[in-house]
Amino acid sequence: MGEFDLITRYFKRPARRAAVGIGDDCALLQAAPGNQLAISSDMLVEGRHFFADVDPYSLGHKSLAVNLSDLAACGAKPLAFTLALALPKVNEPWLAEFARGLFELADAYDCELIGGDTTAGPLNICITVFGEVPVSQGRSLALLRDGARDGDDIYVSGTLGDARLALNLLQGKLTAPPAVLAAARKRLEQPTPRVALGLALRGIASAAIDLSDGLIGDLGHILECSRVGATVQADALVQCIACYAEATQADRQSGPVLSKEQWRTLALAGGDDYELLFTASPSQRAAVTQAAQTSQTPVRCIGQINANAGLQLLDVQGQLLANTYASFDHFA
Ligand code: ADP
Ligand code: MG
Repeated sequence: MGEFDLITRYFKRPARRAAVGIGDDCALLQAAPGNQLAISSDMLVEGRHFFADVDPYSLGHKSLAVNLSDLAACGAKPLAFTLALALPKVNEPWLAEFARGLFELADAYDCELIGGDTTAGPLNICITVFGEVPVSQGRSLALLRDGARDGDDIYVSGTLGDARLALNLLQGKLTAPPAVLAAARKRLEQPTPRVALGLALRGIASAAIDLSDGLIGDLGHILECSRVGATVQADALVQCIACYAEATQADRQSGPVLSKEQWRTLALAGGDDYELLFTASPSQRAAVTQAAQTSQTPVRCIGQINANAGLQLLDVQGQLLANTYASFDHFA
């Protein structure tokens, strides 16, 4: 099978939103009147971001999910994406499953594949997503990293640490009962982009970011861009890990699975969570609760922004914890 047959067979579908989709030199796409485009790229490299033997359905899902997560963080509505793909060889069953995972998520978020590139090479997937955000009275409604203010509450969606727990379990660095691995693995391989929450937070959140490299590092970006500091109840986050409930249940039978400190490390520095972290003025508390409800997304307050530079982590007794948690950096 040649390059063009492959594209036609697995990726080409009739254009819907785009004026021109796959098949010409460029796709043609327009945001709705009164909106601006929000654009983001993410690359997934074998051996770096996923194991060579990961199931292709999950890989198709995750490749788009991590990109949709960036749109969610900006409060952008997904429109379209491009897919640049390097494949070592044409493996049709693999491609069929990859495309199935990709398009299932694309359809769920009404996000159309409008173009890309296909070459031979080490397995590598690069997606660029396009979303739209309204501009109101000359001001963008995009949620950005620089809007956090002294006194704002800090929130996270969902649970943190599950993906890193799965990675550590799959690498044999930690052990846990099978039920814990199954729950964590789903979160590592098929994260849920928080698009509905991002949209619901337009005009409510003062700043937002999606958590891809671990909370400490990603919250750090908001603090730096907004020139503020923060206090975070670290142990509130530990309770937040989806697998924690199951793990503590298993604890009763087989002794502790992970120490408190191990749970903290997963939640604070785990990475690959694709949850949203956002800030909002205390005057918006009811609106945040409402946004969580309309988007059917669990949200919890984990701390406050303050004017003093730096990040303070508190334990359950309110004692200061040493912040020795490193966030993920490809070149560190
Ligand atoms: P060009 O030579 O102009 O770069 P290509 O021959 O690489 O174009 O691609 C032909 C068409 O197929 C283009 O419209 C391109 O956007 C699309 N395309 C190529 N690879 C992919 C892919 N993996 N997914 C979706 N569309 C693709
Ligand atoms: Mg080309």
